Amino acid sequence: MGQIEKEREMLRDAAKKLAEKVIAPEAEKIDQEAQFPQNVVGAMGAQGLLGIMLPEDYGGMEGDITSLCLVAEEIAKVSGTCSWIVVIQAMGTLPLLLEGSKEQKEKYFNGIAEKNSLAAFALTEPQYGYDARSIKTAFEDKGDTFVLNGTKFFVPHGGVADFYTVFATSDPGKGPEGISAFLVDKETPGLSFKENAEKLGMCGTPTADLIFGDCEIPKENLLGPQGKGWPIVMGVLNMIRPAIGAQAVGIAQGALDYAAQYSQDRKQFGRPVSQFQGLRFMLADMATQTEAARTLIYKAAGMIDGKAENYEMHSAMAKYFASDVAMKVTDDAVQILGGYGYIKDYPMERMMRDAKVIQIFGWSNQAQRELVAQHLVKG
Ligand SMILES: Cc1cc2nc3c(=O)[nH]c(=O)nc-3n(C[C@H](O)[C@H](O)[C@H](O)COP(=O)(O)OP(=O)(O)OC[C@H]3O[C@@H](n4cnc5c(N)ncnc54)[C@H](O)[C@@H]3O)c2cc1C
Repeated sequence: MGQIEKEREMLRDAAKKLAEKVIAPEAEKIDQEAQFPQNVVGAMGAQGLLGIMLPEDYGGMEGDITSLCLVAEEIAKVSGTCSWIVVIQAMGTLPLLLEGSKEQKEKYFNGIAEKNSLAAFALTEPQYGYDARSIKTAFEDKGDTFVLNGTKFFVPHGGVADFYTVFATSDPGKGPEGISAFLVDKETPGLSFKENAEKLGMCGTPTADLIFGDCEIPKENLLGPQGKGWPIVMGVLNMIRPAIGAQAVGIAQGALDYAAQYSQDRKQFGRPVSQFQGLRFMLADMATQTEAARTLIYKAAGMIDGKAENYEMHSAMAKYFASDVAMKVTDDAVQILGGYGYIKDYPMERMMRDAKVIQIFGWSNQAQRELVAQHLVKG
C-alpha cells in the first residue's frame, strides 16, 4: 500500500470509529429532535474531518476526493445527516481551494483548523434551481465594497455556518458570464437567515434562506476574478458529486446490513425469514446494486484525483446511479422488516427518508442524466 492509500485508510478508520462510537448511538435522536449535532461537529473537528481536503499548511488533512468519499460513506452507514456535515463542509470550502487567494485561504482555512468553522455553498434561489444560470441575486460594485441584494434558498448549514460562498450577478441578462462568487461572513450586516420548512429527511441539518438586504461585502471577499463565478459553480458541482453519491452508497450499505441481520433474527413459519427465497433474492440484488454504485463512485473520484479530463460525465453517472440505488435499497430494506420497517423504532424509514434528497440536491438526477446525454449526443 502506497503512502496515499495509507493516509486514506487512516481517514476512513477515523470516520468509522467516530460513526460507530459517537454518531450511531445518537443517530435516531438527531433525526427525531431535528437538532444540529454540535457535539458531532466538535468530534469531527478533533479528527480533522472538517478539513479533509485542505492543505496541511492551513491545518488540513491534505486528502483528496477519494478520501472525502470514504469518510462520507462510513458516516452515512449510520447517519445520513451527519455524513452531510462533511460533504457540505467540502462543498463550502472547495470554491476557496479552487480560486482562493493566499489571504483568503489563511483567514478561512485557519478558522476551520482553530475553531471548527463551518462553510456552506449558496447558489440556488427560490425561482432558480436547475436553471441556476439565471440567478437574480445582484451585486453592485461600489468602489470600496460590493453590495448584495437577493435571496438564496435551500442552503444546508444556513445560519450555523460561519462563512458562505455566495453566487450573484451583475446583470441577469448576461447569464453565466454575469455571475461572480463572494465569501460572506455569517455576521455581515445586511445578511439574515430564515430557516426552511421541516424536511422529509436529513433532519439534523438545518437548511435556510439567506436574505441579502444592501449587504456590504469587502472588496477582498470577491472569490476569483469578477464574472468568473460560473466556472467555480461547475467545478465544485462536478468534483463534489462523487462524495454526494458516496453518502448514498453508505446509506444503502447501512440499510442492507441492518436488513440482512434482521432477516436472520426474525422468524415466521418456525424459521428465520432469511431462509425464504423471496427475501434472499432481494438481499442479493441490494448487495449487487450497492457494489455497482460504489464502483462507479470510486471510479469517478479516482478520475478527479488523477486529474483526468472529462470526468464530468462519470461524476454525474456516479451521483445519479448511487442515489437511485440508495432509494431502491432502502425501500427494499423497509419491506424486509415488514411492519417494523415502517415505524420509527427501527432505522429503516429514516434511511429511506435521508436517501431521497440525494436524488435532488447537487442538481437533480434529471440534470445528471442530461449532463451524461450531452457527452453522448450533440443535438
Ligand atoms: C435539502 C436540500 C439541500 C440542498 N443543498 C443545496 C446547497 O448546498 N446549495 C445550493 O445552492 N442548493 C442546494 N439545494 C438546492 C438543490 O440543488 C435544488 O433543489 C435542485 O437543484 C433542484 O432545484 P429546484 O428544487 O428548484 O427544482 P427545479 O429546478 O424547479 O426542478 C423541478 C423538477 O423539474 C426537473 N427539471 C427542471 N428542469 C429540467 C430540465 N431542463 N430537464 C429535465 N428536468 C428538469 C427537475 O429535475 C425537478 O424534478 C438543496 C436542496 C435541498 C432540498
